[in-house]
Amino acid sequence: MLISVIIPFYNTRECVRPLYDRLLTTLNRSGWQFELICVDDKSPQKDWEVIEDLAQADKRVKLVRLVRNFGQQAAISAGLAKSCGDWVVVMDADLQDKPEEIPNLLHKAMEGYNIVFALRGRRKDTWLKKLYSWMFHRMFKLLSGMETDTRIGNFGVYSRKVINAFLTLKEGFRGFNMLVSWLGFDYTCIDVDHQERIIGKSSYTFKKGLLLAMDAFVAFSDTPLKLTALSGFILAFISMLVGIIFLIRFFLGYTLLLGWTSLILSIWFLSGVIIMIMGIIGLYLGKIFAETKNRPHYLIDYTINIDE
Ligand code: UDP
Ligand code: MG
Repeated sequence: MLISVIIPFYNTRECVRPLYDRLLTTLNRSGWQFELICVDDKSPQKDWEVIEDLAQADKRVKLVRLVRNFGQQAAISAGLAKSCGDWVVVMDADLQDKPEEIPNLLHKAMEGYNIVFALRGRRKDTWLKKLYSWMFHRMFKLLSGMETDTRIGNFGVYSRKVINAFLTLKEGFRGFNMLVSWLGFDYTCIDVDHQERIIGKSSYTFKKGLLLAMDAFVAFSDTPLKLTALSGFILAFISMLVGIIFLIRFFLGYTLLLGWTSLILSIWFLSGVIIMIMGIIGLYLGKIFAETKNRPHYLIDYTINIDE
C-alpha cells in the first residue's frame, strides 16, 4: 500500500527540512510505503532548491515545479495528478498541519471511509482570519445551500477513488475541499491538533482571500443571478403600481408637484442598483469566458523523481 503526501510550497523555505524530518519519522514508524509530492508554486523564497537537495538523497521525495505562481489550489491539483498512492494525504507546508496526525487519519480511513477530514477544533489562525472564514462559510451556505465547516481545511486523507473522481473535474475553480465535498463520497472527520504558524506568515492577503471567496460563490451558486432577477421584478412591479396611482391622480385632475430631490435620488439609487446587477452578471460572464478558453489550471516547468 502506497501513501502519497501532497504538499504545495510557497514562501515556506524554512519549513521544508523540519517538515521532511517530521514526515519521515512519522511515516517510517508506521511502516507504510510513501511518496512525498512537493509542488513548488514558484516560491519567491526558492523552496525548490531545498526540495531538490532532499530529492537527490531520497527518491521518495518528488518535486513538481510550476512555471509560475498558480495558487495553492492549482498546486494541489498538480500534485494530485502526479500521485499514484492508494491513499492520498493533502496538507499545508507551513507546519500548521501536524505530520504526526497522518497515522490517525489513515487508520480512521482504513476503517472504511473514502475521506477523512482533519477537524481543527481549535484553529490557531489570527482572529481576523477566523472572522473572514466564518463570514465566508455563512455566506457560502446562504448562497449555495451547501453545508461547510470552518474547522475543515484541505488537510485530510482521500482514497484513490476520490482523487480520480476529483481529477475528472475540469472546471477552473480548483478549491480542493469544496470540490471534494461536492463529489459526495462518504466521509468522516477526526479531531486534530492545529499549530500556530511559527515560521513566516500566511501568504493570503485580504485581497487574495476575497478573490478566492468570490470564485467559490460563483463556482457553486447562481443564487446572486436569481436574486438580481427577483429584485428587478419586484422593482418593476412596485413602479407599475405607483405609476397606476399617479395616472389615476392625473386624470382626476390633481396637480402633482414633483420634487427634484425625490427624482434625483431615485435616479441615483436605481442607477446604482442597475450597475450592481450588471456587475454580478459580469462576474458570471467572466467565468464563462475563462472556462471557454479552456486553459490548463497549471503549467509544469519540470519534475524530479517522477516517472511519466
Ligand atoms: N500556497 C501555495 N501557493 C500560494 C499560496 C500558498 O502553494 O500562492 C501554499 C503554502 O505553501 C502552504 C499552503 O498553501 O502550504 C497554505 O498557505 P498559507 O499558510 O499561506 O495559508 P493559510 O494557512 O493562512 O491559509
Ligand atoms: Mg498556514
